[in-house]
Amino acid sequence: MEEVQSVYCNQHGQQDLKLICSHLLAGRNEPIGFYECEPEDMAWCNECEKALSKTRTDDEQDQWSQDCDYKIVCAVCWGSIKESNQIIKNPMNLTELEQKYTIQYPEVYRQLAENNMLDWGVSGSNWYHDTFPKLKANPPLLLFGYDIEIWNDQELVETSIDEMSDEEDYRNIHPDYQFIPFAQNGAGDLYAFQFDLQNNGEVPVVFIPHDDEEAEILAGNFQDFIFRQLLESVTEIDEDSMFYEEEEENLKQNLFNQLKTHEPYLTAKQIEILNTIYQRDLFEYTYKVPNGSSFETEGLVTFDEVEEIINQQLSFEHLNRRFNYTESPKP
Ligand SMILES: [Zn+2]
Ligand SMILES: [Zn+2]
Repeated sequence: MEEVQSVYCNQHGQQDLKLICSHLLAGRNEPIGFYECEPEDMAWCNECEKALSKTRTDDEQDQWSQDCDYKIVCAVCWGSIKESNQIIKNPMNLTELEQKYTIQYPEVYRQLAENNMLDWGVSGSNWYHDTFPKLKANPPLLLFGYDIEIWNDQELVETSIDEMSDEEDYRNIHPDYQFIPFAQNGAGDLYAFQFDLQNNGEVPVVFIPHDDEEAEILAGNFQDFIFRQLLESVTEIDEDSMFYEEEEENLKQNLFNQLKTHEPYLTAKQIEILNTIYQRDLFEYTYKVPNGSSFETEGLVTFDEVEEIINQQLSFEHLNRRFNYTESPKP
């Protein structure tokens, strides 16, 4: 093991040595972000993080390190600098977004925002290690969902919409679609409200892949989308599942905790179905893919059963419809 170097601090005496970018050391009135690297002995500000994301080559990385102009601090000073610079995002201003895009968010989504359910805590490379464990007892929206990351960042929503409507954008999304994204998956595909299909205040939810022109309508409204996610997330359970625990009992506890915080946003029937499924024991099953092949998996519900439940419970005219988003929505 590498020996931790120490430093003598005028305030705190002999302490472990840490490095921070010169911007963090200079300090501002406003938080400027705090990004740290494993094993947590270096940290840099938001501007340095942006610059880092643009580096490609080793030379560029070296140049980046020089630009950060690292300074030595003691571990105690590091802690207080971290505390005052972590950016806690302001909650999204939905009214502002509504005015900007002349839309009206579904009532369920508004309630979730008001009840702080869109907040997954401080993001960044240490999210899984630092923030996630604190969220497990009272999971925010779809924390244990089906490969989904909920957005709670107005800038992210606006940037994403700007990109989609940009003529230069590689996806070439037809301008007659009105997609307002609210989440993404690990691959960078988007989950969005599809406002051009709005009907009687119900706004369908659509999946927009980044590397395929075919979008898919997942639900007729946000409530149904949440239900679908909670169902689909237990079709295949393995170590990569967000709610995974060594002990099945603890794994179940995560799911029931989630159901509890999500109940106000689901129908009585949806709650009943999820409750019944979550009470099952984990079982193995074989899934036959439509193309003829099959694979073994383990879960609380099979893909076939989920399909059946979705068709029964979430039925609406556009359910599961796929369409090419580069082509006009008008027939
Ligand atoms: Zn910096
Ligand atoms: Zn110190």
